[in-house]
Amino acid sequence: KLENATAKAELGRASWKLFHTMMARFPEEPTPDDSVALKTYIQLFARLYPCGDCASHFQKLLEKYPPQVSSRNNAAGWACFVHNEVNKRLKKEQFDCNNIGDFYDCGCGDDKGKKTK
Ligand code: FAD
Repeated sequence: KLENATAKAELGRASWKLFHTMMARFPEEPTPDDSVALKTYIQLFARLYPCGDCASHFQKLLEKYPPQVSSRNNAAGWACFVHNEVNKRLKKEQFDCNNIGDFYDCGCGDDKGKKTK
């Protein structure tokens, strides 16, 4: 089947949105089990990502830059960094990772006054 660049880009935007929003909601102080869960999720995401070419590039990135899962800040910063590595390869603009804090809002409204940053 022919490549459909529009569908590929749409999948990418949806996937990054979920990816970064998940990091923004990861515990600030995760249990060891939380950290294992996130690391496993990231590895399976990279393995099962529907665009095979993207998946193999991303798996190589994970080898070079292993997922940081020790806190929300580390996870969100790492995810921003690896997305920027993908941006570089695709000749897209770099995102300012200092602005990641409030950018990804899940809209869940169940924070119970907890800081989301
Ligand atoms: P996207 O890169 O999709 O970003 C969406 C939005 O996220 C941006 O508009 C911006 O607001 C924000 N953003 C941008 N950079 C960051 C950052 N560093 N951190 C946080 N937020 C940010 N496409 C290919 O053609 N070839 C590939 O090999 C390929 N590999 C991919 C691998 C993965 C794991 C994923 C999820 C996607 C991949 N894609 C690939 C798709 C590609 O990354 C883009 O999603 C797609 O090209 C649409 O780009 P976009 O310009 O709309 O912005």
